[in-house]
Amino acid sequence: MDFRNIPPVKEQIMKCVRCGKCRSVCPVFAEIRNETAAPRGHVFMVQMLRDGVVEPNNEIYERLANCLMCETCSINCPSGIDIHELNAAARSYIYENNPSLGKELIFDTLWTKPGLLKTSTKLMWGAQKTGLQPLARRTGLTRLLPGDLGKAEQILSSVPARSARSQLKNKYKAQGEKKYTVGYFLGCGTDLLNPGVALATVDVLTRNGCEVIIPPETKCCGLPHIANGKLETARLLAIHNIKIFNMYDFDYIITDCASCSSALSRKNMEFLLGGLKIEDEAKLFADKVMDLTKFLIEIIDIKIPENGYNEKIKVTYHDPCHLANAQGIKSEPRELLKRIPGVTLIEMSDANRCCGGSGTYVLTHYDLSMKILDKKMDSIMETGAEKIATCCPSCIMQLKHGTKRHNYKSEVVHPIELISQAYNKPILKK
Ligand code: SF4
Ligand code: SF4
Repeated sequence: MDFRNIPPVKEQIMKCVRCGKCRSVCPVFAEIRNETAAPRGHVFMVQMLRDGVVEPNNEIYERLANCLMCETCSINCPSGIDIHELNAAARSYIYENNPSLGKELIFDTLWTKPGLLKTSTKLMWGAQKTGLQPLARRTGLTRLLPGDLGKAEQILSSVPARSARSQLKNKYKAQGEKKYTVGYFLGCGTDLLNPGVALATVDVLTRNGCEVIIPPETKCCGLPHIANGKLETARLLAIHNIKIFNMYDFDYIITDCASCSSALSRKNMEFLLGGLKIEDEAKLFADKVMDLTKFLIEIIDIKIPENGYNEKIKVTYHDPCHLANAQGIKSEPRELLKRIPGVTLIEMSDANRCCGGSGTYVLTHYDLSMKILDKKMDSIMETGAEKIATCCPSCIMQLKHGTKRHNYKSEVVHPIELISQAYNKPILKK
């Protein structure tokens, strides 16, 4: 698809009135006080790219790639410009003019084949266990990794031994009377980095009258590809997943990952597949997609059992950008936490500010990502919370790194893990 014909590029750029509202809310601009790092500057850059005033080269790509894709600018833009979409489309256009073998290996070969992705995660786990990873660090071998990967590999320092997929069946019956047939979209981050979240999701859904089917052919939701200039690969992944999930007669398609639910949303499907033959099939699919937190509140109206706690546990909640900004889901995760017996929710001062993880961003922009994370950790630590809850594997990974970095003794969890624990055993003993 020609970059110039993508709706945000074709129609929205001209609506920019240069008001600077986007700039005032951008977490990257707060760190790099330079117009080229600001969303307003990005809009202008994309316009110049579209009009052929600047060449689609790597220098422009790097400037656009400073953006976290957190969507804070887009939701604050009075002209309704999807600034992150403009940026993603431009990155893809530049990438197509400057392809890189490294990116093709990562995003086309590894990240489109779940088996290969799993094998590389296992290799990482093996390196930790055999002591090869610390050895590679001591000898400086990790400094040879591309971009900021050498610094960022410490983020991936606790890869679980077993994926969720290897511990789950493809189908689970509802406990008690069946109310819904649910397709569980098990994303790569939950599967490989947070398998406990997937087990908890299946546990809570089945306890609440859902038959859960986990299609084994599911592939990545495509969000890492969108952020890395691989729009065409993201389209192919979306088409694959639509075809797989549409083969079933699901009432809902549920995911516990904020990034996946935003990638599978109608808005993103329109961005990726609008005007293509598959558009109607994509809408059919996207209209069934719902984030787990919203499903448990709006559809299930979950009642979490009283286990007779007489102690309270302090939990604070961080809004993943792809849930709060991309989908407007803020109250549901909080409501879930409040419904867990024994939990006291303590708001941090800036729950809706990005943690700096943003999927692969921390791997490509480690130092900048850490500056943003440190601010987030300051507001988390002010709460004194014993647990930090959030709904995105990337945020979980980043905040775990933040707690280590600041030596803050607090566990980072997905709300569904606390709910599952409440069903199975008290969080705190009586
Ligand atoms: S907020 Fe919107 S209209 Fe204002 S400068 Fe940014 S992109 Fe332009
Ligand atoms: S998406 Fe986030 S990081 Fe990117 S320009 Fe907008 S506010 Fe800044």
